[in-house]
Amino acid sequence: MAKILDIVPVNDWGFFTLPRPMVIAGPCSAETREQVLETARGLRRFGINVFRAGIWKPRTHPGSFEGIGTEGLKWLREVKEETGMKVGTEVASEKHVYECIKYGIDMVWIGARTTANPFLVQEIADALRDTDIPVLVKNPVNPDLDLWIGALERLNRSGVRKLGVIHRGFSTTENILYRNAPGWQIAIELRTRYPQLPFFADPSHMGGDRKYLMEISQKAMDLGLEGLMIESHCNPSCALSDAKQQLVPEDLEQLLLDIQVRDADTDDRVYKEGIDQLRAQIDIIDDNLLYTFGSRMSVSRKMGEYKRDHNIAILQTSRWDSIMAKMLRNGAAYGLSETFLTTVFNAIHEESVRIQNEIIANKP
Ligand code: PEP
Ligand code: MN
Repeated sequence: MAKILDIVPVNDWGFFTLPRPMVIAGPCSAETREQVLETARGLRRFGINVFRAGIWKPRTHPGSFEGIGTEGLKWLREVKEETGMKVGTEVASEKHVYECIKYGIDMVWIGARTTANPFLVQEIADALRDTDIPVLVKNPVNPDLDLWIGALERLNRSGVRKLGVIHRGFSTTENILYRNAPGWQIAIELRTRYPQLPFFADPSHMGGDRKYLMEISQKAMDLGLEGLMIESHCNPSCALSDAKQQLVPEDLEQLLLDIQVRDADTDDRVYKEGIDQLRAQIDIIDDNLLYTFGSRMSVSRKMGEYKRDHNIAILQTSRWDSIMAKMLRNGAAYGLSETFLTTVFNAIHEESVRIQNEIIANKP
């Protein structure tokens, strides 16, 4: 059972003006005072009110640009004073937190590499105790939901109630289009367990290339997430980190005009009645599916006993191959995709084999 998180609703943070998406934008890294201020002005012009910039950068190789350090906090403070925007940066240690407090940083986030380390998360949580600074926790680099939740619990126990998450995808060794594997099902699971938790997507780090920002942002909105954290730089081709994925403020403005934002929910009575009827149909069908799966597995159990009594091996792959081929053929007629059919029938087959194995193992 999921533990309860004690959260201040994001609308009460005084950070974002509605409507969705709530946007946090700014460069991957603060590089120079001019670059920070120019980017912030460009974003402020079309109503962005939360500015991000990395001050300490977790880089894979030493010798890459590892962030400007404390000097950059003064530039963020200037952004805040000049534009009235809230400013945020990534923290990865208690020292970073203390520096942020000293320079009046409004919000911090915990990066994906740090979320994966409970020692550091605890250190950061302790340093944030008795402050009112909102904290956004990125998913850990590895697709481990519990590690992500554990980080949220540590912060919440330290009294951080302005708490939210950023989904930026997961490291993978697979050859995929994006820089990080989306793993949306993990985000959806977290969303389902903690519906009150403000939820941002980070299309920049998920996609790794500005050409994917639109489709990922749209997906995040379709899933009903509250916001987006997007990297924007006044001159991306010269950026010292993540050059490929940053976009100029004007292009971000266009992207935000282009995405379609559907209401997360509504009080409209006619809509509610319609959706309730459809949901009732789905519930009945899901019940039927359970019944069907149950019947399917009780036949599997009988088959296991029959094979056991006749001393026959459980797995006959040729039979399974022909069942699968038939299902793919027939399933297509119902408009079911090959991926869906393969996933479902492989799962059914695995469960059936597991049940039959159990019967053989418990041979009387
Ligand atoms: C960042 O936001 O600049 C960053 C380093 O992101 P992540 O922790 O998602 O890699
Ligand atoms: Mn970056």
